Amino acid sequence: MESFDELFSRRGFDREEIAMTAAGPIVAWSRMAGEARPTVYLSAGMHGDEPAGPLAIEAFWREQDPREVNWLICPILNPTGIQARTRDNAEGMDLNRDYLLQRSLEVRAHAAWLEKQVVPDLFLSLHEDWETEGFYFYEISLGEDQPYRARRILDEVRTVCPIEKNRRIDDHEVREEGWIHHEPQADFPDSWPEAIFLAKRGCPLSFTFETPSCALPLAQRISAQGAAIRAAMDEIR
Ligand SMILES: [Zn+2]
Repeated sequence: MESFDELFSRRGFDREEIAMTAAGPIVAWSRMAGEARPTVYLSAGMHGDEPAGPLAIEAFWREQDPREVNWLICPILNPTGIQARTRDNAEGMDLNRDYLLQRSLEVRAHAAWLEKQVVPDLFLSLHEDWETEGFYFYEISLGEDQPYRARRILDEVRTVCPIEKNRRIDDHEVREEGWIHHEPQADFPDSWPEAIFLAKRGCPLSFTFETPSCALPLAQRISAQGAAIRAAMDEIR
């Protein structure tokens, strides 16, 4: 994953170190295509024991270069967790519950960076789940209900990876198989994940993709994340 420097520099991204941790910097990448273009924000590596997300970003950008949008990308949000392969950072904090109180240096710096950027039109957040057997995702939408978007993502992912069958996942009832349609409110008022922070900033649409980290090989999870990213991107062009 140290190859992000080479990969994104070669593709014309600007590199910004937004914080320094004991395991190296948190790097944000951006590449603007023009004000008239939509902005897509892609994040991964928030939980250090969920490798498919960062690797899917790498694979996505090695395969294709979709130039027509503005890109914001944070591929490794938790360097100390990635180094130790732990969900939490080195201080034992779950960064994806810290976007309201911002007690961790990582989230403080990352939230400040996000506040300097244009509010994205689409946020894609890559995660994994240790307890499920198939792919699922959260949608947070501030606009009109457009269920076909979710179904298209599931149809694409289904070609490479099973969809989670449980009707109840991570304490949420699914709307349809594999699809949690989440209110733009945190489950616990003080524990905001990144997707809630983005929704509160006015980001109209976010998808948080979850691949089953125990149930399937890494390569298949990376393919599932890639299929989901491409399907979601089809909605924004
Ligand atoms: Zn996660």
